[in-house]
Amino acid sequence: MKLRNLLVHSLILLTTTNLALAQRRTVPVRNRAIANIVREIDARNIEATIRKLVSFGTRNTLSEQNDPKRGIGAARDWLYSEFLKAAEASNGRMTVEKQSFEQQKAARVPQPTMLTNIVATLKGSQPESTDRIYVVSGHYDSMCNSPTDAKCDAPGANDDASGTAAVLEMARVMAKYEFDATIVFMAVAGEEQGLLGSTHFAEEAKKKSWNVDAMLDNDIVGNTLGGNGVRDRSTLRVFSEGVPSNETEAEAATRRSVGGENDSPSRQLARFVKETGKTFVPQFKVMMVYRRDRYGRGGDHIPFLERGYPAVRFTEVNEEFRHQHQNVRVENGVQYGDLPEFVDFAYIANVARVNAASLAALAWAPSRPKGVTILTARLSNDTDLRWDANKEPDLAGYEIVWRDTTSPVWTNSRAVGNVTSFTMKGMSKDNYFFGVRAIDKDGNRSQVTYPRPQGRN
Ligand SMILES: [Zn+2]
Repeated sequence: MKLRNLLVHSLILLTTTNLALAQRRTVPVRNRAIANIVREIDARNIEATIRKLVSFGTRNTLSEQNDPKRGIGAARDWLYSEFLKAAEASNGRMTVEKQSFEQQKAARVPQPTMLTNIVATLKGSQPESTDRIYVVSGHYDSMCNSPTDAKCDAPGANDDASGTAAVLEMARVMAKYEFDATIVFMAVAGEEQGLLGSTHFAEEAKKKSWNVDAMLDNDIVGNTLGGNGVRDRSTLRVFSEGVPSNETEAEAATRRSVGGENDSPSRQLARFVKETGKTFVPQFKVMMVYRRDRYGRGGDHIPFLERGYPAVRFTEVNEEFRHQHQNVRVENGVQYGDLPEFVDFAYIANVARVNAASLAALAWAPSRPKGVTILTARLSNDTDLRWDANKEPDLAGYEIVWRDTTSPVWTNSRAVGNVTSFTMKGMSKDNYFFGVRAIDKDGNRSQVTYPRPQGRN
């Protein structure tokens, strides 16, 4: 083809395909902002944070609180000042607080001890959404072999300076953006003492009836060479529970009758993260794991789950146990200990990108629809869905999503307009799982709500 013809031809192709695409799917303006957030996350900041946290020698929760150089108190004060610096870009929308409380004697707390969470809150700007809260968290305490040894060196570069550094970097990048809903960036203490800092926060949230719509826990997110010899720099696990920790007897009876063990709010959150990661960090894979946490392990997402808040945990794929909860030592030529030299800073930056994109997508999207029910009063080969109207002024409408009952992710969606009920004609509720999500005028989609049956089960 001659150059001119080629040009004309490609122009026609470009015009027809692009117009069709543009009409079908305008690229939402705010999604460009999410791409910018992802781009601004910098592995060098994450490395600097981890090295600084390691420099405090130990961050055991029982360690020194008033020494400016060594112990958890020094780490606490340094983190507080760093979050304050991050908040400077927010025009007063981000506030930073030391959330302190006295922990009474407990299994791993030999005497009453002050614990402090560092909590940076980026207030949402849309009045209808500002009470909707997304929490992202890492724990800044560390331990060596013994959780009550406050003197040993406990560098905790991976467990969990990695998660803490990711959260601080997110706060630094995201503070200047204005979101509809509120985002809380948090570094907690007392994780190794029994999830104490996160339990305190979750309990306070419950007491104050906060609408925590999702919680993301980052813990052990920096090692890419496993004890099994496998190196994987491009996969991240997201753990989510199937059956809600706070499920009631009535909910359990419904689940036994018509399923739903794969459709808890936390599982929807995991799917949302996976989909968002695929869009904005495509070179990095989010691997869903259908369990609350690994065998014999726990994390800061659990106190949230127990109080009915959707929550997931992020962790690397191949763990190296010689570098977790170990006294720093060389034994038979093998280096033990959670040292920065075993941490992959570029990998943590990608973990932070998946988190940040998910948080931004959640905080710019409308609330997931409430009161979603699937009508079961009549036997029918159609599926009748109903839900309450969202309150956001920029709401565009809703989408019905569905999948085969054996599919791990939502595979189909249909825009149904700004309505509060819809009938999927000729599609039996017995043969698919359905859900509903809200969309705003910029194309931001909420998490999916899985319906409760209304009528007989
Ligand atoms: Zn940990």
